[in-house]
This record gives sequence, structure tokens and C-alpha cells, in this order.
Amino acid sequence: MFDTLKAQPADKILALMQAFKDDPREDKIDLGVGVYKDAHGNTPIMRAVKAAEKRLWEEETTKAYTGLAGDPLFSERMISLVLGDAVSRETVSAVATPGGTGAVRQGFDLVKMANPDAVVHVSDPTWPNHLSILKHMGLPVVPYRYFDSETGGVDFTGMIADIAQSKPGDIVLLHGCCHNPTGANLTQGQWTQVIETINSVGAVPMIDLAYQGFGDGLEADAGPTRQVAKSCPETIIAASCSKNFGIYRERTGILMTVAQDSGTRTVTQGTLAYLNRQNYSFPPDHGARLVLMVLGDEGLRADWEAELEEVRTGMLELRQMLADELRTLSGSDRFAFLGQHRGMFSRLGCSPEKVEKLRAEHGIYMVGDSRMNIAGLNRDTVPRLAKAIIDVGI
Ligand code: PMP
Repeated sequence: MFDTLKAQPADKILALMQAFKDDPREDKIDLGVGVYKDAHGNTPIMRAVKAAEKRLWEEETTKAYTGLAGDPLFSERMISLVLGDAVSRETVSAVATPGGTGAVRQGFDLVKMANPDAVVHVSDPTWPNHLSILKHMGLPVVPYRYFDSETGGVDFTGMIADIAQSKPGDIVLLHGCCHNPTGANLTQGQWTQVIETINSVGAVPMIDLAYQGFGDGLEADAGPTRQVAKSCPETIIAASCSKNFGIYRERTGILMTVAQDSGTRTVTQGTLAYLNRQNYSFPPDHGARLVLMVLGDEGLRADWEAELEEVRTGMLELRQMLADELRTLSGSDRFAFLGQHRGMFSRLGCSPEKVEKLRAEHGIYMVGDSRMNIAGLNRDTVPRLAKAIIDVGI
């Protein structure tokens, strides 16, 4: 039976990680994989998370199953973090999932159950795993214009024109903040127009929120998601705790839906629990428990927010430094978009050949579509990257 299987395409980012490891050059720079790194290249465990872990080890008395939806306290605190008081709790359903990826997957499963004819409209480009999961599930995908490589910003006219083509019950997948892979984001006014367009065609927004706290701050980054949830009849939200709590390997995420009324909510909540049951039964608890402890304890929460803010502002400084350096070297403002982008990533907008040149001639590793992880830089490597970008003729 196994001989009928076909080799699957290798994950490009994982292959890039391996190539970086195998490169003997001492001054190589890794801007590939999407993991936060500090100035020393480490991905630290956040102080509040470590403290919660210690407390948990001392206080936890059982490892018995939680519930199919995970611990309700995790949902309650995550709903507050993401949605604030934008919508009535009576309309929100939520289940814990293995990471944001699990939430995205369960969200698509929910869509398939609710509307088997749904087409999913995704930004061009989007996180490659969106496309790969949708393809695996057999859900039809239509891209909408998003990134303008001339300006490094959003092709907003194109985006609106394409979203306007969606049909009632279609899904419009949006990145809540810190767009991956481009780093280019909508303004508040543009979000309003996107919402109006989605509502005018009767589509349903699905928000992937993987970087809350990495862009303009915890509250600001949740703004668009809240605006959408408040203004659209129904919303699906897949949120990840991997980045903002630094608990990548614990697999912690949440799928939320906002329904029109509490009756629909009851059935939706049951369906989400049912989907968890079919796919993996109980969701992982360790990471979710750390999150609920940090969010529910005043001291831990303050420390977590402070450390997250250090992470965020550190990346902003690196962005600005790179944009400034490139302004000096190029004598132009054509790289100013790097300072305007938000989150961990920026897409340079150059050809795969130039990306390969950066790797071969300068030992600088970024994804083939020219996405770079800003957190892979530090004060010493920013000037080297800027010089290399100009050297290879970008
Ligand atoms: N969505 C996007 C856009 C992402 O970039 C990521 C992380 N790479 C995720 C979802 C999911 O992350 P995780 O499953 O590690 O929580």
C-alpha cells in the first residue's frame, strides 16, 4: 500500500534551515524561519511563562483530561485578550487547539461543514501553510491581490476589487495584524472598507491572528479583529499563542467564532467540540494552562506584557535601523517601506535570483520570495545586510 504514496514537496523553510546549518561560514545570517530571536540569536522562554511553569509544577495535582473544548478559563481569558468587549460573550464560541495551525485547520473544517460550496479567498501572497492545508482539504481557493512589490505596500484597489467578487457564504481569509509573509498591513480606514465590501457581498471573514503584540501593541493589534467581529454578522478567528507567549513547541492556539445570536452560538460551540473530538479529541493543555495563568495573574501578566513590549520595540528599532541604513546607501527612499511594515517579517520584493545571490555571496539566508525575519538581525548585522542588499543590486 505504501508504495502507492508519492513524495510530498519538501517544506521550503525547513529545507532553508538545514542549508543554513550546513553552511560553514561563521558570519552567516539566518533570516529564514519565523521564530523570534533575541540579539544573541536565542529564542528565550519568557520570564512570566517560566514562572508560571514553576508554579504549575508545584501546584498541579492531576493530568486527567480537561474538556473537548479545553479549559473554559483558557477560552474566557483568550476571548478577552483578542476580542475585549467588542461583542457579547453570548455570541462567542471557542475551543483550544494545537497551535494556531490547529485553529486554522479546525476553522476550515467548520467552513466545510457549514457551507460545502464555500470558496476561500486568500491574500496573494499568504502564509504558505494556508494554501497547503486548503489544498489538502480540497477547499477551492481564489487569491485576492494584496502585495504591491513596487511600493512594498498593499495594492488596496486590487484587493477591494477582488474581494468584491466573492459570493455569499464564501470565506475571506485575513491576517489580523503583522501580515505574513509581507509585513504590509491595512490602515484602519482600509479595514473599514474591507468590512463594507465583505458585508456587501455576504461573505464571511476569517481572521488569522498569529502575532498579536508584535506589531503596534497588544490592544492595537487586536483592533482590526474587534472591528470585524463587531461589524460583520459572523466571524471566524484563529489565534496563536506561539509567538506572543514564546511557547512554539507547546502547541497552543484557539479557534473562536462570533455568531449572530446565542442560539446559533450553542450549536456552533457543540460543532467546534465535535470537530476537536474527530481530529484529536482533547486539545493539549500545558501551553494553554500557562497562558491562562499568565493572563489571570496580575504580576505575571504585567511582566509578560513588559517583556512582549521589549520584543516588539526591539524589532521596530531593527526595522528602522535597516531602513535608515538603506536610505544612506541607496541615496533614496525606496526602502522606507521596511520601517512602515509591522511584525516579524518584511518582504523585500526582489527576485529569487537576488535572494540566491544574497545567500551565495553574503551568507544571508531568507525565504525565496524575499521574506526576511527581522528578529534574525541585530545591531551588528543590520549594516551588513544593508550593504549586501545594495551590492547584489536590489
Ligand atoms: N498563521 C500564520 C500567519 C503564521 O505565521 C503562523 C506561524 N508561522 C501560524 C498561523 C501558526 O502558528 P502555530 O501553529 O505555530 O501556532
